[in-house]
Amino acid sequence: MKKDKAVVVFSGGQDSTTCLFWAIERFEEVIAVTFDYNQRHNSEIECAVKITEELGIKHHILDMSLLNQLAPNALTRSDIEVKDGENGELPSTFVPGRNLLFMSFAGVLASQVGAKHIITGVCETDFSGYPDCRDIFIKSLNVTLNLSMDEQFVIHTPLMWLNKAETWKLADELGAFDFVREKTLTCYNGLIADGCGECPACKLRQKGLEDYLNERKGF
Ligand SMILES: [Zn+2]
Repeated sequence: MKKDKAVVVFSGGQDSTTCLFWAIERFEEVIAVTFDYNQRHNSEIECAVKITEELGIKHHILDMSLLNQLAPNALTRSDIEVKDGENGELPSTFVPGRNLLFMSFAGVLASQVGAKHIITGVCETDFSGYPDCRDIFIKSLNVTLNLSMDEQFVIHTPLMWLNKAETWKLADELGAFDFVREKTLTCYNGLIADGCGECPACKLRQKGLEDYLNERKGF
């Protein structure tokens, strides 16, 4: 696989940055793709740019602002509150079809640059209820993309069955623990590294980090 080319869906967050390191270890050439859909915080895009520059990775930023036109939501509009889903409802950060669109565009890019592998950091374990982060969806989409473009893509989801602590562990195993901790942005309030500590994304990240650090101390 070391000779192959791979496209990584990359947001500059903890998960996709860990995936980027995962891909760098495995593939000859790695290309990152970031989707600009008028995120609440432009710092997300800036962070993604900085990381790819530092790692010397080719980076495409695709304009997906039409998504906000279709489905305004808490990730793009500051007047919509970020809330966890309650009583079986989806969280306010859910954007219908987002992953379907992003992965399809990643597929188009992969086809254009001649990459066989597509990597995404979606995860079913700590899954906040997003249907398009499920393993079954990714498998189905893999078949669809291959049929639609007559390609033999392999979609990789290295984080699919990991919890947040295990994702930190993976970053550590890849030699990227400090990098991921200090340079990635997960926070819904646009603060890098440990973030605001208050939003759902920060709480999830922090909890996973503490669990992993406790586990590491135990050995
Ligand atoms: Zn936060």
